[in-house]
Amino acid sequence: MEEKNLKISIAHLYPKLLNLYGDMGNIITLKKRCEWRGIDVEFEEINIGDSIKNHDLYFIGGGQDKQQEEVAQELYSHKNELTAQRDDGAVFLGICGGYQLFGHYYQPHDKDKLEGISLMDAYTVAGKKRFIGNVTVKTDLGTLVGFENHSGLTYLQGETKPLGTVVVGNGNNGKDGLEGGRFKNVFGTYLHGSLLPKNPHFADYLIELALEKRYGEKIKLTPLDDKLENETHDSLINKNY
Ligand code: GLN
Repeated sequence: MEEKNLKISIAHLYPKLLNLYGDMGNIITLKKRCEWRGIDVEFEEINIGDSIKNHDLYFIGGGQDKQQEEVAQELYSHKNELTAQRDDGAVFLGICGGYQLFGHYYQPHDKDKLEGISLMDAYTVAGKKRFIGNVTVKTDLGTLVGFENHSGLTYLQGETKPLGTVVVGNGNNGKDGLEGGRFKNVFGTYLHGSLLPKNPHFADYLIELALEKRYGEKIKLTPLDDKLENETHDSLINKNY
């Protein structure tokens, strides 16, 4: 199918509350990498109190515990719709706090447990140490670079697989050497940065999955000139400061 006849719908979940460390850059990257190819983008911001329509791709960023609390209850009220969307092949990308809410729960230090929406079989408990710094992750989709700032320790279970293995940094919990999680087309990661501008191969992979969900067939995107993105990516690999 000609890219200029394609369309993709993207929802940004609760950007007014969960949008830490430039996570908005992920939305900008997804939109731009579609528009540069002539793919039409339908975009919707979902805020507290809004209904959630069917989309091909949902993005949620990270935030402090307080903002997570505000979003958790609202997100939980949409659990059934979003689970149906997951089972219909929709793509989800959650960063840090958003990732944590994709699991069964996030247990902060000295507050009540936040119920997650169980899009993936994982759970998170606040640890004593805050993990802050650059992260390099080896994945089946190529290396991913970003940075982490979280005290949450995430543990994957069942059929939920990691995004990859940690080369530099702490990742999910600083113990099992794993970073991120994936179940069906639901992806979570601790990589802020923002993630997608400096990992264009992963951005395109998510767009291709979202197009496959919409059109029911695999669509290989035309490569873009990613010289600048890849130079940035390569300059960050294994940087540990
Ligand atoms: N509040 C969560 C934690 O500290 C998530 C932080 C974030 O989104 N950067 O683990």
